[in-house]
Amino acid sequence: MYGATNPGRTALPRCIYCLKGGVATDFNREHVIPESCGRFQDALVAHELVCTSCNSYFGGSLDLILARGTDEGLQRYFFEVKPKEEIARFRYDALTIHYQGGGDYNGAILRLSADPSATNGFRATPIEQVGFALSSGLGFEWMPLKDVYEGVWKERDDLDPKKGVRIYASDHEAVRTFLKAEGVDLPSWRQMARDDDSSEEVLVHQVSRITTDVERAIAKISFNYLALVNGAAFALRPDFDPIRRFIRFGQEQQVGFIHVDTNEVLSLPRPPGTPEDQRPVVHVLTVEYSLHETSVIGQVSLFGGFRYVVCHAETAVPGLRRSGHLYNVAELSVVRLGK
Ligand SMILES: [Zn+2]
Repeated sequence: MYGATNPGRTALPRCIYCLKGGVATDFNREHVIPESCGRFQDALVAHELVCTSCNSYFGGSLDLILARGTDEGLQRYFFEVKPKEEIARFRYDALTIHYQGGGDYNGAILRLSADPSATNGFRATPIEQVGFALSSGLGFEWMPLKDVYEGVWKERDDLDPKKGVRIYASDHEAVRTFLKAEGVDLPSWRQMARDDDSSEEVLVHQVSRITTDVERAIAKISFNYLALVNGAAFALRPDFDPIRRFIRFGQEQQVGFIHVDTNEVLSLPRPPGTPEDQRPVVHVLTVEYSLHETSVIGQVSLFGGFRYVVCHAETAVPGLRRSGHLYNVAELSVVRLGK
């Protein structure tokens, strides 16, 4: 009698992004939602799905842009996932914050820093910048000094510097000299003024850009989730080749994998009496078929912000296990939705 068991054809893992596998490929743990969005008990972690090379590529690119450049990334400091002081490292890749207080500074670009004496713990400070009058006469468009010196404003036909220029810079004389050499010679200059000098608190508004890299970062979270719930064999099906190429290599951008709903996530129930402007601070992940079962979709929302719908496959790939998870940011806990 044989004492040995036949291991059979044990499949070696393959990476769900680059499709590499075999003995020479190392695998890393990949957090479905990057740890930069919180260190949760029972966080979903994929094993043997993402190779070391892809994991490290994502960590240095898409994950970093999501964490340090987006609205979702900024929320980390407000909800104490990150120490407030670390907001100094925020990069504003896909987000700008503007002063909304009227007067000469209206629309000026702001940066946030930690300030324990401020009501919400943050101080907003203008960067060095120049505002150019819009041709339409409807205000000014501000840009960082670096863009001004690089001539970005000259390529914008919606700007008309002859109608007015506002300079916020430590060396405004140098900027004026530069602009004059560029043909912007305004007859008179005056000191700029704020409308709301009496107020210590300012109104700001945020402008988010959903760039391709932001889309890829979000699509990765959703595809990680699909693979974790459904297993590698499912995620490796060719139906998902376009989305994996988009996530890993930025290819197939024309397909339009992502739709963004800027309304609140999934209309989660809120306790009675909750103010309108408060939202549940949760991350939500789902994977399911689309309404008419024509495609495989995933939903992602981080910090209860934008709701992204990711189209993973243009067909209803059979055998999908539907699932949803909710990460409670305040409790750092994770629960499965439904049964
Ligand atoms: Zn890989």
